[in-house]
Amino acid sequence: MEQIKFLAGRANWIKGSALAEVMKKAAELRAGGRKLISLSAGDPDPGLIPRKVLGELAREVLEEVPQSVMYTPANGIPELREELSGFLKKYEGYTVDPSEIIITVGGTGAIDLLGRVLIDPGDIVITENPSYINSLLAFEQLGARIVGIPMDGDGMRVDLLEEKLRELESRGERVKFIYTIPTGQNPMGITMSMERRKALLEVAEEHDLLIVEDSAYNFMRYEGETKPLKAMDGAGRVIVVGTFSKVMGTGFRIGWLIAGGAIGKKVLMGKSPIDFCAPTISQYIALEYIRRGYFEEYHLKEALPGYKRKRDTMLKALEEGLPEAEFTRPIAGMFVMLFLPKGADGMVFASELMEETGVVTVPGKPFYTDESGGNALRLNFSRPSEEEILEGVKRLAEFYHRKF
Ligand SMILES: *Cc1c(COP(=O)(O)O)cnc(C)c1O
Repeated sequence: MEQIKFLAGRANWIKGSALAEVMKKAAELRAGGRKLISLSAGDPDPGLIPRKVLGELAREVLEEVPQSVMYTPANGIPELREELSGFLKKYEGYTVDPSEIIITVGGTGAIDLLGRVLIDPGDIVITENPSYINSLLAFEQLGARIVGIPMDGDGMRVDLLEEKLRELESRGERVKFIYTIPTGQNPMGITMSMERRKALLEVAEEHDLLIVEDSAYNFMRYEGETKPLKAMDGAGRVIVVGTFSKVMGTGFRIGWLIAGGAIGKKVLMGKSPIDFCAPTISQYIALEYIRRGYFEEYHLKEALPGYKRKRDTMLKALEEGLPEAEFTRPIAGMFVMLFLPKGADGMVFASELMEETGVVTVPGKPFYTDESGGNALRLNFSRPSEEEILEGVKRLAEFYHRKF
């Protein structure tokens, strides 16, 4: 039977990720017994996550809290929202009432729920160019048109944003929000400067726009001082997407949305029929994880220095192996963006690199909102071991020098 005729019109907006090809090929090579070095992850390191402690919490929660295996309120268990409110005050520097927090199925769930109540088909969503591929795909599934604003070492070029907004407004186009990952941006690894943050808030004020601040890497900062946009927001224009994925592990699926007001209300009304609630077991584990100070004890004190070492190892290896190449130097997050010579095709390069050397990287192109970035290559340093980073970059550099 032919199924296509049954698909809804909006199913046309659902696009596969161009990264699927690369990942499929990697899986095939692995299945064939090939040992690969992966610099392609979007994960933290399971070895730096206190799995034993989390395991004990899981057992305790399952045995002692009957509610942990049940449905719980759509906006999250009250104890976690309460605890998270204190946590955000302490580590993010802003005050939010627990009633304004919605616990979601990861940051991804927050982005989807928010998009559903904000995006009309044809609406323009502004992002950094490049931006997080899952967010781009989520907005596009809802019929949004993405307009990407180029970045430099200080983050989104707010001057170009202003120019673009004027141009769009003169054409009568509708822009509702700016989606930004100010800290440890995925895929660029860039952290927005304080000056840019201020300028961005001013532009949002001037043009009456919402800012969606994806704070996925706010707890993966290795140096430097910064402040979340939310902590600088006097006007209530900033909506926060947050997650424990990069702290506790991506498998727990605990994130949050802080929208407040009419937007938060609508999101919450719509949430129950979509996911009922974020995984209750994970919510109770997250609650105990922060309540008992494990964030500080294990994440800040142990994991962060580990990620910092890996970052240093990757940057040093790149500086020594590819001194002529351009690459970003992250102070937060999990990624370095490496640029091949102008005109080079990162998709082809990544594919040949994997086949010939066994090193898996992620071509940057699918993260771009236009035709730029064809020569970009995203490298992950959080997941591989330091030995793998050294060996991976060594093979990458050798291959690069054979090609260019
Ligand atoms: C990892 C990540 C998220 C959230 O992922 P979840 O696992 O769904 O919490 C959101 N935004 C960015 C930019 C990310 O890298």
